[in-house]
Amino acid sequence: MAPTLYIVIPCYNEEAVLPVTAPLFLQQLTALQQADLVSDSSRILLVDDGSRDRTWEIISALAAENCAYTGISLSRNRGHQNALLAGLMEAKDRCDITISIDCDGQDDPAAMEQMVHAYLDGCEVVYGVRRSRKSDTVFKRGTARGFYRLLRGMGVDVVYDHADYRLLSAKALQALAEFQEVNLFLRGMIPLVGFKSTSVYYDRHQRLAGKTHYPLRKMLHLAFDGITSLSTKPLRMISTLGVVLALLSLLGIVWALIAGWFGQVDSWVYLAAAVCLLGSIQLICLGVIGEYVGKLYLEVKHRPRWIIGARTENEE
Ligand code: UDP
Ligand code: MG
Repeated sequence: MAPTLYIVIPCYNEEAVLPVTAPLFLQQLTALQQADLVSDSSRILLVDDGSRDRTWEIISALAAENCAYTGISLSRNRGHQNALLAGLMEAKDRCDITISIDCDGQDDPAAMEQMVHAYLDGCEVVYGVRRSRKSDTVFKRGTARGFYRLLRGMGVDVVYDHADYRLLSAKALQALAEFQEVNLFLRGMIPLVGFKSTSVYYDRHQRLAGKTHYPLRKMLHLAFDGITSLSTKPLRMISTLGVVLALLSLLGIVWALIAGWFGQVDSWVYLAAAVCLLGSIQLICLGVIGEYVGKLYLEVKHRPRWIIGARTENEE
């Protein structure tokens, strides 16, 4: 039997774009149903993230008009990642697969067909990846590249050029529900969930209407959140810095002693070397404390320690 699909769409102050894109999503859903790829009980779940404009009225009107649309409204604005997770958790017990997509029409809905095919071929997670960044400004392209490099460098496993357009099976969603963290960065969390995954490639367009909610300030915030909520590497870097500085100041002291032997060194050099050495010892101590803070941090997250992907039939 064809799987039931929920298309989950977070919407924040999108009165300008939602009336344009909602029919496009419906068109795509109908096409998938006609191709017998998804069941007739599939839906489009619109999540209003505490919008201040007419977004919720539009969602309610869509749902009243056509039962393919359903909606939930958050009590206040909680941000893209929270709104998306709220939608996914709402859908997880009602469907076999979800596809999350932004409501601004930037991501090509046509890629959903390939995603469903990948699911039918056995993948539990399918990442939508941008084919090129031609539609971006040079600045956006550069910052985006820096963003992914930085995350990877800090040990956060992310799929390059993948945002939040992805298919998740009910199995992956149940596993995601076990992650209890409050600081959400779904792009970094989904690879932690594991399971068989693949990527499909699509072209990303300009926003159809309205304006972005992610100016540079928010992008930096997201990158910082991504690193600090998924990696304790910055804490470890303190010890590394301390060790490097300690070695350098020891070298400095040795050099000053040798040069002093030949009477070529002012006394402040000894002082400077000693101050550097003390500073680096303090950094090492901070790094050691950081290690414990990092462990505590990971403990309080109460993440699942493992996720079982499959069981033999006699085990169930
Ligand atoms: N969004 C949300 N809550 C927010 C900000 C954004 O639900 O606080 C939604 C928004 O409606 C859109 C998606 O998140 O569907 C992505 O936002 P946007 O298109 O502004 O980001 P960009 O594509 O420019 O990075
Ligand atoms: Mg967008």
